[in-house]
Amino acid sequence: MPSVLVVGAQWGDEGKGKIVDIYAGRADAVVRFQGGNNAGHTLVVGGEKIVLHLIPSGILHGAAVCCIGNGVVVDPEVLLAEIQGLRDRGRWPSDDCLLVSESAHVILPCHRALDQAREARAGDRKIGTTGRGIGPCYEDKAARRGIRVGDLLHPGTLAAQVASLLDEKNALLRHLGAEPFDPAEITDGLLAAGERLRPYVADVAGRVHAWLAAGRNVLFEGAQGTLLDLDHGTYPFVTSSNTVAGAACPGVGVAPSDLEAVVGITKAYVTRVGEGPFPTELHDDTGRRLAERGAEFGATTGRPRRCGWLDLVALRTACRVNGCTGLAVTKLDVLQGLPEIRVATAYRLDGATVDRVPARAEDLARCEPVYETLPGWDEDISAVRDLADLPAAARGFLDRVAGATGCPVVLASVGPGREETIEVAAPFGRRRSGPRQDG
Ligand code: GDP
Repeated sequence: MPSVLVVGAQWGDEGKGKIVDIYAGRADAVVRFQGGNNAGHTLVVGGEKIVLHLIPSGILHGAAVCCIGNGVVVDPEVLLAEIQGLRDRGRWPSDDCLLVSESAHVILPCHRALDQAREARAGDRKIGTTGRGIGPCYEDKAARRGIRVGDLLHPGTLAAQVASLLDEKNALLRHLGAEPFDPAEITDGLLAAGERLRPYVADVAGRVHAWLAAGRNVLFEGAQGTLLDLDHGTYPFVTSSNTVAGAACPGVGVAPSDLEAVVGITKAYVTRVGEGPFPTELHDDTGRRLAERGAEFGATTGRPRRCGWLDLVALRTACRVNGCTGLAVTKLDVLQGLPEIRVATAYRLDGATVDRVPARAEDLARCEPVYETLPGWDEDISAVRDLADLPAAARGFLDRVAGATGCPVVLASVGPGREETIEVAAPFGRRRSGPRQDG
C-alpha cells in the first residue's frame, strides 16, 4: 500500500501531528496539500516538545522527503524561520529533505494585515481566523492575481506583479483603517526570501508521480479538520481551503485512484477553536476537566479550546466525505476517571431526528444532541500498547466509535509521546523503497 492520507475528522487539533509523525517513520515522502501556517502540530519526541506550522512533521524522522504541495499557501518568513528553528535545535536533516512546490501561492504581508483588519472590524461576526493571511492569499489565488513560489525566483517580472496586487490591496487596507505597503519594499523582501528558498523549490507533483510509480510509500498530510472544510464544514465558520481527503488531488496533482488508504483522526471527545456551532459543547466541570487533562490550548494561537463529548453524527459525516478506510482515535487517556462517557449518536432538530451534519451553520447551532451513555474506566491506560490490555470500557468505547461510523479503529493514542500508541493495523505494507534520491 504505497499511499496513505491522514485527515482530521473533526474541527482540527485532533492530534494529526503525532499520527503523521508515527506514519512518517515508514514513509519515503510526506506531502502537505492545503492550508498554511494556520495549522499547528505539536510533537513530543524524546521528551522534547516541537511545534511545526508549515513543514510536514515527517521532517523529524529525517528519512522522508517533506513536500509542500501547490495547494498550500506559503508565508516565506514563517517557512524560513521554521527551517532555522529546526537547524538551531539540531533537528534539520539535510536540505534535500524539503521540497516546496513552485506553484504554491505566497502569503504577503498585505494578506496578514488584511486578515487582521477585517477580523478587528467584524466584531461579533468575526470568523475567528488565526490572522495569518491564509484566507486573503487564497482569495488572490482564486482571483488569478496571486504570487507563486516560483515567481520569487524571477526578479524581471515580480515587481510588476507586486505593484498590481498592492494597487488594489492598499486601497482596501486604507478603507479598513490599516497602513498601506510599499511595493518596492515588498518586492525586495520577496526576492531575498526567494533566494533563500531556491534550494527547496521544485516540481512537487512530478516528484510525487515518480515515487508512486516506483511503489514508494507516500503519506499525504491534511491540515485543519473536515468540519472546517470550505465546502463541507460549518460555513462560514470554516477555513479558506478544502480540507477533505479529496483536496489532495488538486492540492498536489495526484488522481483519486492514487489515494489508497484514508485514515481519519478523531479525538475521543471534541474540541473547537474559534467561533461556530458545536452541538456537544460542555460548559460545565466535565468540559473544564477535558480541557485541563487534554491540555487544550491551541498550538498556533494559544487560545483555549472549547471542549465537548464525542459527536458521532459529525464523525460519521466526516468518514463519509473523506472516504475513511480507518480511524485513529487520539487522547483516549484523557477520558480516564470519568464515571461515565457520553457520545452523541443523533441530533434533534425541529422535532425531527437528524443523522448527519446539516449544511447551514444556523441549523447546526439549533441541533440538540441525542446522547448514549457508556461506562467509564479508572485505570491509567498510558502504558497500554495492546488493544487486548485496555480496560473493557475503553475497548467498548472504541467498538462503539467503529460501529457508529462503519470505520475500523486502526490506531488508538494513549498519551502525547510517540510510543504511547496502540497500533491495531499498519497503514503501509512492507516498505518497498530503495534510496529516495532515485525518485
Ligand atoms: P494537530 O494540529 O491535529 O496535530 O493537534 P495539536 O498538535 O494542536 O494537538 C494535539 C495535542 O495533543 C498535542 O499537544 C499532542 O502532543 C497531544 N496529544 C496527541 N495525542 C495525544 C494523546 O493520545 N493523549 C494526550 N494526552 N495527548 C495527546
